[in-house]
Amino acid sequence: MKRHRLCFPQAIRRRKLWRNSRFHYLYGYLPSTADEVLDLKGHLVLPGLVNTHHHFYQTLTRAVPAAQDANLFNWLTTLYPIWARMNPEDIFTSAQTALAELAFSGCTTASDHLYLFPNGSRLDDEIAAAQEVGLRLQASRGSMSLGESKGGLPPDAVVDSEESILRDSQRVIEQYHDTRPGAMVQIVLAPCSPFSVTTDLLKQSAQLARNYGVHLHTHLAETEDEEQFCLQKFGHRLVGYMQEVDWVGDDVWFAHAVWVHDEEIKVFAKHNCGVAHCPTSNMRLASGIAPVKEYRAAGVNVGLGVDGSAANDGSHLLAEVRTAMLVARVKEGITGYSLSNDPNRKLMTAREALALGTRGGAAVLGRNDVGSLKRGKCADFFAINLNRIGFTGMHDPVATIVFGQPVNVDYTVVAGKFIVKEGHLVTIDERQLAEKHNKAAKRLLNES
Ligand SMILES: [Zn+2]
Repeated sequence: MKRHRLCFPQAIRRRKLWRNSRFHYLYGYLPSTADEVLDLKGHLVLPGLVNTHHHFYQTLTRAVPAAQDANLFNWLTTLYPIWARMNPEDIFTSAQTALAELAFSGCTTASDHLYLFPNGSRLDDEIAAAQEVGLRLQASRGSMSLGESKGGLPPDAVVDSEESILRDSQRVIEQYHDTRPGAMVQIVLAPCSPFSVTTDLLKQSAQLARNYGVHLHTHLAETEDEEQFCLQKFGHRLVGYMQEVDWVGDDVWFAHAVWVHDEEIKVFAKHNCGVAHCPTSNMRLASGIAPVKEYRAAGVNVGLGVDGSAANDGSHLLAEVRTAMLVARVKEGITGYSLSNDPNRKLMTAREALALGTRGGAAVLGRNDVGSLKRGKCADFFAINLNRIGFTGMHDPVATIVFGQPVNVDYTVVAGKFIVKEGHLVTIDERQLAEKHNKAAKRLLNES
């Protein structure tokens, strides 16, 4: 009797607490019920990866022969006329393809930069695609307003007037931008690059973005010839130009930022600007290697981006994590690592590379609800079965998926919903999508 009296109240209390999720969190217990229970024995589970720079539409123009071996400006001028033939259905289809590839690589939040709107295309087309696939989307309303006739790089046929750009930017913000934690769609304003937009558009976009509290994004300091262009046309180096047009702050992040001086890194740090590091694209176009170590040492937020699929030529974000780690080591090598006796000089680790792809990316996008698995964060994660031939003999499960050859994930979950389950895309039909995509890609190249 005595034992029963002692145990009974405790049992009651336990049952009550068992139903209290706060208790589960505090004491590490799992709840007694769930919609679905996944047995992930043998898998590595990590927070969903965050992609900070992409151009989904470019999945239609991968490995185009004439653009395979070109630097940035030649690559762009080869592809602009092909991109000018796209229609709204192409934007939708290519966005679904890119998002599917991202999901297969463990990405759960993707930023996309759409800066061409040919033949009636709209940002709405890619937002609709993301809503079907199920990934979180930072949809950047891009723009180009400085055509060839005004001294810009793109042909006049693919640029728009500032007035129509700003009007449509305001429309998409009002229609789609969700400020709540766990938002599935947020809008970003993103004039394409200093060599394709006017100074006035940069200034007005910044003003509009700040009126609505949306973030700003553009390409910056990707190549040396861009630096030359900016010096000649605007009389500034690129970072100085950004300061001049009020494009610095914790609401701004730049893609690439390869060609920067030490003082310019300090400017980014001082104003909390973020950087989208896109190592594969930078290698593919022979642009250079971004000073990621210096950025991180200065306290600059750095995330990873696969960049447009015509400069990668894929959308595998986990592969980008691996490439970021490896290229950081190449940079160490060419700056005398093997000769250095400095014990503080360290190589980028697998965990540091993964941090760039998760927490780093979330910080760059200004999202504090994704990027890690913690109480109060979104239920976004991916899982990889480690029992596969390419991972045999690995002695560190976390490092395995970075040092090992990149694989497609077994599970990707966004907001508690499966996007990839047991290695298959569950939200859309992958085979039908591939067929439709290939048809559209052929048509674009054959229309010339
Ligand atoms: Zn880009």
